[in-house]
Amino acid sequence: MPDQHDDILRDWRENAARNEDRNFRFLRSLRMAPSERRVDALAGALHQEAFAAIDCTRCANCCKTMKPALIEADLKRISRHLKLSREAFISTYLETDPEEGGYRMRALPCPFLAGDGRCSIYEHRPKACREFPHTDKKGFSWRTYMHADNTLSCPGVYRIVQEMRIRRGRF
Ligand code: SF4
Ligand code: SF4
Repeated sequence: MPDQHDDILRDWRENAARNEDRNFRFLRSLRMAPSERRVDALAGALHQEAFAAIDCTRCANCCKTMKPALIEADLKRISRHLKLSREAFISTYLETDPEEGGYRMRALPCPFLAGDGRCSIYEHRPKACREFPHTDKKGFSWRTYMHADNTLSCPGVYRIVQEMRIRRGRF
């Protein structure tokens, strides 16, 4: 029996690319919204709704298709957990990020994605993975490009943006 999770993922697969331009324009228009606080409140509520319905272990698209950046604290924490030196961890798993500088995961899917869709280093995962997809953080209106890109990678973000467009009268 398809459940809400399946409905959200099917809608995302079928419609996210088709709605890319419309969603980008909508996200850009949020910069002009009269109340940034109300945008954040609605985004936060929709984030809770979306991720209560989605089972990320049955999606894992971010871990399959995106390379998280790692900050120095991640390098220390994860290499210690894996009982590797910092240098061995970098040479085994990471590459230099050509756009941002610093390091990012080298392989796709992520080598720490387990067969059951879970993260095998969950307690130690990078900060970027903990914070993804950033839809429940303050300043939603100002992350236009990030959220627009993520509608194509994350069914949860697509759902949140679609619902915001429907409910935009609230702000
Ligand atoms: S892409 Fe989005 S919905 Fe899918 S696993 Fe990642 S955070 Fe969850
Ligand atoms: S470290 Fe874990 S949460 Fe981050 S991309 Fe890899 S499998 Fe996903």
